[in-house]
Amino acid sequence: MKMRRQSLSRTLAALLALLLPTLPSAQPVTKPAVSAGKSQAKQGPKAKVRIVATGGTIAGAQGDSGSYGYKSGTFKVEDLIQGVPHLEKLATLSGEQVVNIGSQDMNDAVWLKLASRVNALLASPDVDGLVVTHGTDTLEETAYFLDLVVKSDKPVVLVGSMRPATAVSADGPANLYNGVAVAASPEARGRGVLVVINDEIHAARNVTKMNTTNVETFHSPNRGPAGLVNTGAITWMDPVDRKHTKATEFSVKGLESLPRVDILYAHANMSPDLIEAAVEHGAQGLVIAGVGDGNMTQESIDTLEKVQKEHGVAVVRSSRVPTGLVLRDNEINDDQKGFVASGEFNPPKARVLLQLALTKTCRPERIQRMFDEY
Ligand code: ASP
Repeated sequence: MKMRRQSLSRTLAALLALLLPTLPSAQPVTKPAVSAGKSQAKQGPKAKVRIVATGGTIAGAQGDSGSYGYKSGTFKVEDLIQGVPHLEKLATLSGEQVVNIGSQDMNDAVWLKLASRVNALLASPDVDGLVVTHGTDTLEETAYFLDLVVKSDKPVVLVGSMRPATAVSADGPANLYNGVAVAASPEARGRGVLVVINDEIHAARNVTKMNTTNVETFHSPNRGPAGLVNTGAITWMDPVDRKHTKATEFSVKGLESLPRVDILYAHANMSPDLIEAAVEHGAQGLVIAGVGDGNMTQESIDTLEKVQKEHGVAVVRSSRVPTGLVLRDNEINDDQKGFVASGEFNPPKARVLLQLALTKTCRPERIQRMFDEY
């Protein structure tokens, strides 16, 4: 009896030993379509990821009051890297500070400097991917500017946070971790500039900030995210089908400034006074955050037609409505008035594209072609 029990347990042990190595793959596999991050770090040599810091809440510290108020752009890039556990397992990291500002102060001069630096870094064999840390207020604008002027397939990922580094439940470290995982992923190549925040990956052209304070603020309202990323494990969705990075006609080489483009917000009883003031102050282009499908008062339409035809000011009709398209010649006769319809681009994105378009042409039909292609 004792003998039989011993041999039974020996047989069981042998069976288990045979089965155990196969158990993990016998479980249902909920593997993402493409995974990177942690798993990738175990295979092959680690990617070389450069972190380029520009400031923002991700580098911010709370004031003494504790509950509210903070100063963005307090911590330096080294602090950010050191603040994220296991970051170095994802990639070989290095960092540099380009500016340290709240992104509400982002401007053309910093964009030109940042874009030149990003292009120089990506041209080096010592960099496989880039993470740009940035405030969330204008993150979508910088991301789209880079998307149009970066001349490389290598991943460029913008990362921000809604809570300062010293806050309870700061979201910056997880966002930076995921951002580095995406920048280190070969699958991120050729997808244009990406934004990684709150476990989501967004294409620069599609993403916008939609909540003033919540960590779930970035969305791509018309198209949805470009992917998901959970503790470094990536699932990709369909790539953007519009021209970006290497495929655009834009370049920052030799550019010392950008044309002035203003955004004007339409509303009931909108007067044309601000249109005239903007042109008097040197605006070469105007984006209207129109009501509905890019509409505005008749007086404003007439004044825009006048500044277009008499002063060559480029006029783009966008919308203050967060979803949907502004189609050409729908309620307004764009052909006759010389206007451009923004399509999917919200006013801040339309402004970025119009600034770059004006470095090439001021002809409405050529600008419209760019809005249709990019
Ligand atoms: N004002 C901050 C900035 O854009 C807000 C943030 O980063 O969330 O720099």
